[in-house]
Amino acid sequence: MKYTGKYKKMAEDFRKDGADEVLVEKFIREEMEQEEFSKEYGTTDLNAYRIWESWPDKRRDLYLHNAFCPNCHVTSFAEGFNIRQDAYGLIVEGNCIKCGHKIARCCD
Ligand SMILES: [Zn+2]
Repeated sequence: MKYTGKYKKMAEDFRKDGADEVLVEKFIREEMEQEEFSKEYGTTDLNAYRIWESWPDKRRDLYLHNAFCPNCHVTSFAEGFNIRQDAYGLIVEGNCIKCGHKIARCCD
């Protein structure tokens, strides 16, 4: 397998560390897959995040602290929630701060 750009450099570093070609290929493939994944993740979220960030704190807090959990009813999102955009607006996805259940909140 031929590597280009930063992968070429990476492959050289792996070889320097004593990795054989099979291992080098394995590492680079993993790296590429990871990159592909985060690229997709980044583009889907970026727009939504921009809109989200443009809202005043008060509005964001309202959504973050008025989510519905099937176990705890009205609850808040735990740290590390995601913002996604769909046809109706933004959707906050994350976990319930009280029990950890997966929850989502539509922001219309
Ligand atoms: Zn809960």
